[in-house]
Amino acid sequence: MAQIWTVEDEENISVLIMDIIASMGHESRAFIDADELARARRGSDVPDLLLLDLMLRGKSGFDILKLWKQDPQTRRVPVIILSARSTDTDKVRGLDLGAEDYITKPFSIRELKARINAALRRITPAATRLDLGPLVLEPDNRGVTVDDVAITLTQQEFELLHYMAQHAGHLLTRAQLLKDVWGYESETDASRTVDYHIRSLRKKLNDDAANPRFIQTVHGSGYRLQVEGDSP
Ligand code: CA
Repeated sequence: MAQIWTVEDEENISVLIMDIIASMGHESRAFIDADELARARRGSDVPDLLLLDLMLRGKSGFDILKLWKQDPQTRRVPVIILSARSTDTDKVRGLDLGAEDYITKPFSIRELKARINAALRRITPAATRLDLGPLVLEPDNRGVTVDDVAITLTQQEFELLHYMAQHAGHLLTRAQLLKDVWGYESETDASRTVDYHIRSLRKKLNDDAANPRFIQTVHGSGYRLQVEGDSP
């Protein structure tokens, strides 16, 4: 169970978010502005995830985000911005300031759940080393070795490989990967994103799509990470 905090000044949205979080089995606390949030922080409490509205009374969400990313205690807490401001400038600014994700209001319940799950997944399994024989993942420092040789992956490639490694031996559909790794709700127009990242992963793992050592293509369905020596 995760502790999720929300800063939102519109009561109906705040109540909706709290309901969604409760339905996911997590604990939540809601704050209407930066002052309330700061009071909660004075108890040195730190949540696992912060959902942040941008337009608030007093300090803006951007101000709060800046403060959180400067504070060593809260710097690592992922922040998802929830805002009706949907311009690219706002998104870029939010992501530049260190937000993990940006959701435009109005959002669907499914979308919010998927994004929360994706953000939490990035932090929870972080400490566990995954040893699949020739392939080893160290999520703490995003380290990957193949036959004891270190390879460098982008954040997104690492997250994809990490998810596949956690589900080694299982067929993973593109839709499932998009939902769980990227937090997307629908497969539409985005399945190429998966194929693109699988291609670049294979390249870095020196894996041959026609005769794979690690990532198998399951035609018409998706992909499976299967390390040699494992029984199918
Ligand atoms: Ca607002």
